[in-house]
Amino acid sequence: MSYTVIVGLEVHVQLLTKSKIFCGCSTEFNPDHPNVQTCPVCLGLPGSLPVMNRRAFELSLKTAMSLNCQIAPFTKWDRKQYYYPDLPKGYQISQYDLPFSLDGFLEVEVDPTEGTTRRVGIIRAHLEEDAGKNLHDETGHGTDSQVDLNRAGTPLLEIVSQPDLRSAAECKRYLEELRLLLTYLGVSDCNMAEGSLRCDANVNLHVHQPDGQDIPTPIVEIKNLNSFRNVELSLEYEIKRQFEEWQKTGKRLGEVSKETRGWDAARGATFAQRGKEEASDYRYFPDPDLVPVTVTEEELDRIRESLGEFPADRRKRFKEGYLLSNYDAAVIVDQGAELASYYEEVALGCGDAKQAANWVTQDILREMKERNLTIGQFPIRQPVLIALLGKINTKAITIKSAREIFVDLLTEGLEGKPIEPSRIDELVASKGLALVFDVVELDAVIAKIVDKNPKAVADFKSGKQAAVGALIGQVMKEVKGADPQRVRQMLVEKLSQ
Ligand code: ZN
Ligand code: MN
Repeated sequence: MSYTVIVGLEVHVQLLTKSKIFCGCSTEFNPDHPNVQTCPVCLGLPGSLPVMNRRAFELSLKTAMSLNCQIAPFTKWDRKQYYYPDLPKGYQISQYDLPFSLDGFLEVEVDPTEGTTRRVGIIRAHLEEDAGKNLHDETGHGTDSQVDLNRAGTPLLEIVSQPDLRSAAECKRYLEELRLLLTYLGVSDCNMAEGSLRCDANVNLHVHQPDGQDIPTPIVEIKNLNSFRNVELSLEYEIKRQFEEWQKTGKRLGEVSKETRGWDAARGATFAQRGKEEASDYRYFPDPDLVPVTVTEEELDRIRESLGEFPADRRKRFKEGYLLSNYDAAVIVDQGAELASYYEEVALGCGDAKQAANWVTQDILREMKERNLTIGQFPIRQPVLIALLGKINTKAITIKSAREIFVDLLTEGLEGKPIEPSRIDELVASKGLALVFDVVELDAVIAKIVDKNPKAVADFKSGKQAAVGALIGQVMKEVKGADPQRVRQMLVEKLSQ
């Protein structure tokens, strides 16, 4: 028996605003100083009144427009009632039946090598406030629980996808593309370790029957997945579990109520948490303290103009404009806007896009990874790399020497020394890496070596190409810094006379 996996993802992203969504408190991540970023509004004290942060709304519009959503000209706020210690008002301000945006899609590159994409529908994106954070058993006695409300009231954008995803791996790709878009737009830092991007997955199976029909299994929501790895692992587990459950019980969608499950990363298993609430359980009603929000065409135009280039468009431009492979374009663009811009400046500056791609995707990414640096922290800036690549292209130094200088520059830069293009010349001179261009000198040395090695010459003439290798070594020993390619070429010419 086979089945199709059906997954829809709900992603919550914290927006990069300085202050919270309905008050002026800071949104800084500050776990060491709990409950210092609070005020009567985000503590839910009686008589306090919320006021919407227009910046949070603009960042949300920016995101929704980039996700090809329709923007509602009129939107309002609703109270979603539930009781939890980290929710001081006893309700969350969210958007229920009139979200500010609807009906978009995200194009996801499912196979970066082939460059194939799939369109994942977006049902809606709405804005809401975050809750605080409950901390359990920090002392290790198993008896204490604490509440930190620093995060309460941080603006959250909830992005709900259509159930268009068909595997755990596809979900991971969708999240990677979404995170890249959000960071390109600058609307969120998407720092998963700090909880800036969290994900819930709704999953069930369509089990294929011999008569050609599909039977849907009950939908399960896996809550609060805080890393891409956990999204992938929990879905793989849940897909297997649901199929086994189906084989055991034969229960289909509608026969048991929706279930919420958590993910236990240590055990590598999902576990039952509670029956899933229906919307009616939350007793949504419009928040009487907040005015509805209207959006004008002029505002939308202004935001549309500020959007800049999306990652998918940049990949396409790199492939078409610089003739990069799908793979190189994906590697460069997927590292983020800053690395992509760095690459582009080097490609234009050195005049060889492929050479720039090789250096960025190999040498730079390897060093960044090994030394745990971002491209912004990388001490060899674009003008210096352009100058270094220029030395290779004008045959002033070999590629091997350039790699050696690259590592020297990096080491010096990390020691805090300023790295200017002129430093390359100093290193080339002090290390004797300059290629010798004096053809007359090289010619004389080659003639001398050929005279001294009649056997190697005879071997070469009788067809042993390898004999030339020994001669190159001898020439190089006398003319330090000669280009081995050039020496080989001149030797072969000489021997073939
Ligand atoms: Zn506050
Ligand atoms: Mn939500």
